[in-house]
Amino acid sequence: MLYKDLQNFGAVKSNEPLAKHTTFKIGGLAEYFVTVSETEQLIGLLRFLDGQGIAYFIIGGGSNMLAADTGFHGVVVHIKTQKSEVRDMEIMAEAGCITVAIAQLSLQTGLTGFEWGVGVPGTIGGAVRGNAGAMGGEIRDSVKKVTVYRDGEVIELSNPECKFGYRDSIFKNNSDVILSVELTLKKTADQNGRKKALEYLQYRNKTQPQGFSSTGCIFKNYEIKNHEWENKNQFNLKQNLLDKFPEDSEKIAKFFAIGKISAGWLVEKAGMKGIQIGQAKVSETHGNFVVNLGGASAVDVIRLVEQIKEKVYTEIGVILEEEIQII
Ligand SMILES: Cc1cc2nc3c(=O)[nH]c(=O)nc-3n(C[C@H](O)[C@H](O)[C@H](O)COP(=O)(O)OP(=O)(O)OC[C@H]3O[C@@H](n4cnc5c(N)ncnc54)[C@H](O)[C@@H]3O)c2cc1C
Repeated sequence: MLYKDLQNFGAVKSNEPLAKHTTFKIGGLAEYFVTVSETEQLIGLLRFLDGQGIAYFIIGGGSNMLAADTGFHGVVVHIKTQKSEVRDMEIMAEAGCITVAIAQLSLQTGLTGFEWGVGVPGTIGGAVRGNAGAMGGEIRDSVKKVTVYRDGEVIELSNPECKFGYRDSIFKNNSDVILSVELTLKKTADQNGRKKALEYLQYRNKTQPQGFSSTGCIFKNYEIKNHEWENKNQFNLKQNLLDKFPEDSEKIAKFFAIGKISAGWLVEKAGMKGIQIGQAKVSETHGNFVVNLGGASAVDVIRLVEQIKEKVYTEIGVILEEEIQII
């Protein structure tokens, strides 16, 4: 019966392996998996699910999540709405647009400001929710407004109303579903954007593990200002790092200048690079990546993540916070 109702809104599958839809290639069965490609249908589906009190979970590109081995009991809503439009210096993109495609569109139409997006997997809806960013840029720098579904209504939020923070936004703390986003970029006549984008891609290929399934960075970089009180009371963090790792004094100075300590560096310094549990392994290339060697379970990853946090805390005294969404 529910299966038939869901067919009014998109393509429905039952008992669909989430591992097929996450870049980590991990995750049990979704009881129902609905792929929606029209925004109107998405709104209709969300209203239907809310009206019936049916549990649901949103998935875009599945590139920032760890799905449980036990799967999801309820409806997984796979957003695949893909319309986009360029108007002068603005790009309107539906939530399911692929971030890389929007970054490429911006380059093709002579716009600058979103070059960093060429290497970020997933959808623009997922990028807005997590305030995705790379190479010093973040999506909040370009968001003009975001249209969301909230409690049966469709509303628009301005940039400040999205309460963006480092890998954070209001959407991480509420149940809004992002329907579309409007980005404001700048016009450029030169070809520097393409050159910059290419350099970004080359840098990523060099510094991130290639050829393995992963979900990007597991932890947020450590924001020093958020922990000032803690650090003052425990010890002088900077001096402690300099005493322990004098060979990295330049790096440490840089971290304190920008206010963030690289999580990958902390993992490496805690001696966790290359550590493996089951088929999940901390990448040898980048300490903030856990790679699936083939057949890793969510439990393997969670145990590894806990072990990393414990070791970073006991060795260095800081508590890492997960960037990924665990469901
Ligand atoms: C190899 C690799 C490299 C990466 N590099 C970067 C990087 O440089 N910078 C960076 O910031 N991230 C990076 N990531 C992480 C990831 O690409 C981003 O976080 C991305 O924006 C997630 O989008 P998604 O559509 O895949 O989200 P999903 O993984 O599908 O979802 C993530 C969370 O967002 C929610 N969500 C998704 N869409 C919506 C929506 N429309 N409305 C409401 N909630 C929604 C989901 O419910 C879930 O809680 C990387 C990932 C990989 C695998």
